[in-house]
Amino acid sequence: MTRPDSKTPNPRPSLTRRGFLSAALSTVPAAALLGSEPGRRAAGRTQAASPARIKEYRILGRTGAKVSDIAFGAGPLNNANVLSAALDRGMNYIDTAEHYENGNSERAIGEALKGRDRKSVFLTTKLNLTFMKPVTKEGIRGRFMKCLERLGTDHVECLMIHMCTLAQVKYEPYHELIKELKAEGKVKWSGLSNHGADYSLSGRLDDPVETVVMAAAEDGRFDVVLCTFNYLKAETGDKMLKACAEKNMGVTLMKMNPALTNADEMETLTRLRERYKKQGQELPEALVKLAKINADRTAATEAFLKKHGLDGPEQSRDAALRYCLDRPEVHCVCPSINSFEQLDSYIALSGTKFEAGEAEMLADCRETLGGMTCRIGCGECGPACPRGVPVAAIMRYDYYFRTVRREKAAMSDYAALGGPNASACAGCAGPCEAACSHGVPIQGKLVLAHERLTLA
Ligand code: SF4
Ligand code: SF4
Repeated sequence: MTRPDSKTPNPRPSLTRRGFLSAALSTVPAAALLGSEPGRRAAGRTQAASPARIKEYRILGRTGAKVSDIAFGAGPLNNANVLSAALDRGMNYIDTAEHYENGNSERAIGEALKGRDRKSVFLTTKLNLTFMKPVTKEGIRGRFMKCLERLGTDHVECLMIHMCTLAQVKYEPYHELIKELKAEGKVKWSGLSNHGADYSLSGRLDDPVETVVMAAAEDGRFDVVLCTFNYLKAETGDKMLKACAEKNMGVTLMKMNPALTNADEMETLTRLRERYKKQGQELPEALVKLAKINADRTAATEAFLKKHGLDGPEQSRDAALRYCLDRPEVHCVCPSINSFEQLDSYIALSGTKFEAGEAEMLADCRETLGGMTCRIGCGECGPACPRGVPVAAIMRYDYYFRTVRREKAAMSDYAALGGPNASACAGCAGPCEAACSHGVPIQGKLVLAHERLTLA
């Protein structure tokens, strides 16, 4: 089933608990209101006799391309067979970047595309202009040609600026190059990706995702956007998605499922306490505080899980993805995939509908654990840190470690941080916490993230 271009203004502007529920309920078919039970649905997912296939395709904004609602995020990809299976089962949007897996993601895609009808795939790759000094039109072209070489193709459907900054939205050498590449048939569409405020390896402090994406929509030269959005970011994300829909941009989402679990945090803290004890030391004060915050939430978390029949908050993942796909401005979601198990679990979501019970579950989840969870990339806290710690970036690396299970990549990103890191947090008064309007216990989370991301 396909649906027309998304020019419809967002009908759900308010995301108070009540607004969240009523907005979600307004889109739910009557049949789905009867007997909905997200916990059973999440827990009872079984392997079908024949593997699930993509069931829904959508028109990717003004590109006019018909893309699968579940896209293939090739960030961790190094196994071409997984992508081949995905393509066989109807996935047709592939997202990669020049530096994913040191170029091996693009190589694996090239392998999987061999012998296939190139027209059946919407292929995007990304170039990070920040890592290039100086950034020249010819320099960008040279790197792009290497992408094509690794991908084993003579063109991509979309070339994106990776982690595009506000300044790069107006970077004329890039736009001039895109014109040339389009004329040469090497690129069909231009795009950008952004996951929010960040200190990059070069130590810059960027603007929030909404600011950058709305500037890109306003600029008018970008056709496709890949950006962070989830039900915890709905208030700010609403405006961003609406701006994209007004310009009929293709919208692909990432980080749809916030890391909503305190169980693994509790376990890690218990292990750390033991380790410190063996070394004759006490757990650092920031972690003691974090353990207490987690303990205080235990009863509420258990009540939430019981109410929705869940074994753990991570079972809200499917509902979180369906919430994103339910947005009229969104064309596909792009989870990271590098195993058959991941492929099975994501592809099974294609064409499924966001149910009333799931809306209630996410609202409860938000209320119970939302205050423990970084939105990833909003960046309100960054300027409040006197030591220049890149809070949003470290929270994102921790998300890669805990939720996406890309432990090695997360640790390597953390090790590559150009400036101060979370080792500065243990002995700090934590003024950043007052700047986070979501109430995230930043200091403890960063001290814990430092322990996790620097594991020997
Ligand atoms: S810690 Fe709070 S202010 Fe900082 S990026 Fe996360 S949600 Fe935003
Ligand atoms: S705890 Fe202190 S050092 Fe760490 S991010 Fe917050 S303000 Fe900066």
